[in-house]
Amino acid sequence: MRSINGWRFLLVIALPIFLASLGVLGLTFDLLDRVSSNANLSEYKRNRDLIVQALKLAEADLGTLAQNNAQWDNAYANTVTSSNAQWFNSTWAQFPAGGTPYDLVAVLGPSSPRPEHIASRTVPMQSDVAALLGPVFNALAERDADQPVATSFAYTAQGPVIAAMARIASPTGNVKSEKQLLMIRTIDAAMLAGIEKAYLVNNIWLEPEAGQPQSDLRLHDAAGTPALVLRWDNSRIGDAMVGWAKQKASAVLSFLILVMTGITVVCWRLIQNLVTNEAKARHDALHDPLTGMPNRAALLERLQNLRQAGQLDYAIAFADLDGFKEVNDSFGHDIGDRLIRAVGAGISLLATSAAMCCRMGGDEFVILFVGGNAEASAREFADRMIRFLVKPFDMEGRIMAVGASVGITGTAGVELEETEILRRADIAMYKAKADGRNRFCVYDETFDTERNENLAIAAELRKIISNRTLDIVFQPVMDARTLRMTGVEALARWPVNSARKITPDRFIGVAETAGLIDDLGELILHKACAAARDWPDIKLAVNVSAVQLNNPRFVDRALTVIEAHRIDPRRVELELTETSLVRDADRAKAVFKQLRLAGIRIALDDFGTGFSSIGYLRTFQFDRIKIDKSIVSKVLSNPAELAIVQGTLLVARGLSAEVTAEGVEREEEVAVLRLAGCTGLQGFFFHKPLTAQQVTAELAKAQQGHSLRGVA
Ligand code: C2E
Ligand code: CA
Ligand code: CA
Repeated sequence: MRSINGWRFLLVIALPIFLASLGVLGLTFDLLDRVSSNANLSEYKRNRDLIVQALKLAEADLGTLAQNNAQWDNAYANTVTSSNAQWFNSTWAQFPAGGTPYDLVAVLGPSSPRPEHIASRTVPMQSDVAALLGPVFNALAERDADQPVATSFAYTAQGPVIAAMARIASPTGNVKSEKQLLMIRTIDAAMLAGIEKAYLVNNIWLEPEAGQPQSDLRLHDAAGTPALVLRWDNSRIGDAMVGWAKQKASAVLSFLILVMTGITVVCWRLIQNLVTNEAKARHDALHDPLTGMPNRAALLERLQNLRQAGQLDYAIAFADLDGFKEVNDSFGHDIGDRLIRAVGAGISLLATSAAMCCRMGGDEFVILFVGGNAEASAREFADRMIRFLVKPFDMEGRIMAVGASVGITGTAGVELEETEILRRADIAMYKAKADGRNRFCVYDETFDTERNENLAIAAELRKIISNRTLDIVFQPVMDARTLRMTGVEALARWPVNSARKITPDRFIGVAETAGLIDDLGELILHKACAAARDWPDIKLAVNVSAVQLNNPRFVDRALTVIEAHRIDPRRVELELTETSLVRDADRAKAVFKQLRLAGIRIALDDFGTGFSSIGYLRTFQFDRIKIDKSIVSKVLSNPAELAIVQGTLLVARGLSAEVTAEGVEREEEVAVLRLAGCTGLQGFFFHKPLTAQQVTAELAKAQQGHSLRGVA
């Protein structure tokens, strides 16, 4: 899964949301603007229609008024039958305070343009109404004869007016006349105010001059020319409406944007959490929780990347701690964990040129080196690490010693599967362990055959253990003074009927690494004890691998076997090599204490091959020290070796330990070793390892010799 970063989130989610919001806002405003202009237009049309309607109504009203007054018997009598000025003045020419719906009234004769009677309220008196009305006058006057009334708007010198001309007639006598009644109404501010009030139109006004092209409302006169132009304030109801709507929409959208911002922030947080969770999960998947170092998965990923990038020059050092299990068993897992952390930190510090330091799990670490010098760097690191671990760790006063066996392998330009690289390093590491631990070993192809052989040996060993077919031989140990057999050392032998011949060194080593040593050791002790029952007067020495001491049940099991064969534990001596003991001295001491309590004696084997000090000898209080054959073989030729033997004997005497020289092959050696003060002698000069029957025979022979000597 790819990680979602902040910018991608902004680009993919937040930006579109923001743009969509803007789009919606824009669309909404555009829509509102359209609604607004539509509303404005219809409002304008409504106003115009209303004004037109009002004026047409006023025109019609004036026409009706004029017609009603003209078709009146009384009028006919006083204007046609007689021309009664007084009547005119007292009727039509009265303009009472309440107002008449006309401002000028005139009675027109049949032909003369001058009115017979005329009266006016606001329009200044103008006797020539024909001139006043212009072409409208003629249009009104020259209408069809059967049309009783005609009306028109007109633009006059006095401003716009409505004019109505009606033929005076006697309805009763059913007589028409040639005379006409003319009524004129000024379209003035008062009238417009009336319209404003009645039709709820704002502020209507007259254009000063008729015929202006941009006029809003143009009414034509009967002659077809524009008579008046009106303007008014459009209320722009749409603007008001939309202003309100825009306000609301802005509020709603602001709210929406707020909500979306909220959602965006929440989403952002969620995604950030996801991203960090993902990063954490990835980190966790690739790191060891205890040390924080990269783990196996991280290493495999890195190796894969190297291979894919064509970087084929790299090496790895596969380090396995020696003695870690013992630390864990005796101090507990908490201390074990702390030790692992300390070692991990140490490795990271020491591996200055490493590309990666990983913990593979347990007590295994892999250090990766990349580049042309990779293998040399790995060797250099392994050497440093081993030297670093020589110094014991001090954890709150508890001293613990661990070592490391390191397997090294390099690719040297060859493309190899990651698992193969690890396998090779692992084999090299096991080789380092088998060679005596605390060392590094560089992979060699022969290791594979060796490893396969070891696997086969382990398999056969399992069978040998379960069938109890292991052979045991016994090498006599002679008393240095009497040169009589005072003990035997049990030595394990690969069954003679087996197809292969495996030396004890080899199969003991395999048993140790394959986890078979406890059972094998018990079988050896069992067989040795079984044989030793026939030799009640001599001591029985049995070799024990230090690995066996790690088993908490070791003492119990050993004592059970010894008791089962009814062997006096005081006859039994267990031999341990010095190098194997240093790793967990405290534990060894505790085990020795328990064994001694039961009467069992402890011998230090192969003395002189390791790094024993006087302090070391005192710590363990060995009952016997066995000087290694490598020293014994040189005592004659090399005075220094003899000095070692002499010094050891001095120290041993001080610690009241016995000293056995092993590997004695020559008579001259016997003399020197006896002189030096060895209490026991063992070697081919006396006996090669013997079968149990041979030992029995030897003992019988010695017994016989002794009796014979006694007789003599
Ligand atoms: P080790 O305990 O030092 O045993 C003595 C070895 O020296 C034996 O070899 C023995 O055969 C050999 N040896 C004795 N006298 C002479 C001599 O005069 N000259 C020479 N050149 N060699 C002599 P072996 O039996 O091959 O055992 C080798 C090692 O294998 C032993 O060394 C011991 O460490 C281990 N081993 C043998 N048997 C057992 C066993 O039962 N248990 C354990 N844990 N280790 C055993
Ligand atoms: Ca031995
Ligand atoms: Ca030995």
